[in-house]
Amino acid sequence: MKISHIEHLGIAVPSIEEALPFFENVLGFKCYNIEEVADQKVKTAFLKVGEVKLELLEPTCPESTIATFIEKNGGRGGMHHLAFCVEDGVAEALAEVDAKGIRLIDKAPRKGAEGLNIAFLHPKSTMSVLTELCENPNK
Ligand code: ZN
Repeated sequence: MKISHIEHLGIAVPSIEEALPFFENVLGFKCYNIEEVADQKVKTAFLKVGEVKLELLEPTCPESTIATFIEKNGGRGGMHHLAFCVEDGVAEALAEVDAKGIRLIDKAPRKGAEGLNIAFLHPKSTMSVLTELCENPNK
């Protein structure tokens, strides 16, 4: 597996609307896309920091894993996951890490925000850092 760069950092927030002024007005980043990912029960907002993106994740219903995460964090958001861009494809990368005994959340790639193919590795195998592998199929 060849990882080219950190694709994005995922930050859970109770409300994108309430979180954006910090990222835009204080840190000076620009939100360029807001998108709902129905499959994951989240609304996402993307900002660019150089080549790396920040992905703000707001739950769209109480059953969302992001809602559970925020609840565990005392109702506040927090650093949620780290996403790496793999050059040779998510399916291949999953097969490789699976063969190395890494626990997977996703056995196969699925569609994430921005049309990326994504898959999550289990925090039990990744130093407790929820880790996402992704690739841009349109590249
Ligand atoms: Zn992500």
